[in-house]
Amino acid sequence: MSKKTEIKEWKNHEGEVVASDNGFDVIDCQRCGFKHIIHIPTVDELENIYKHDYYKEEKPLYLERYQEDIDWWNMVYTQRYKIFEENSLNELNNFENWYLTMSDSDVF
Ligand SMILES: [Zn+2]
Repeated sequence: MSKKTEIKEWKNHEGEVVASDNGFDVIDCQRCGFKHIIHIPTVDELENIYKHDYYKEEKPLYLERYQEDIDWWNMVYTQRYKIFEENSLNELNNFENWYLTMSDSDVF
């Protein structure tokens, strides 16, 4: 019996689908080396999951699971922080450019 495999890609993650549920696929990601879900949930989606399902139904396993997934979560939070950092720098640069342009004009 041969198993049909499906490769999926999401942003810069790509790998074989190993499970699917609830509109999410778990891929064996070749890019980052983790098995993880795609799409990666947004902060809002995560809050929803935690508020409505996770704590109610799976809380007893919460700490255990978190430990298992700690490397993965570290990576997610590191990425988020990097994005935040880059955006903040961009905004600062934009403000500086805006300020320099304005201070050359008659407005100030
Ligand atoms: Zn990945």
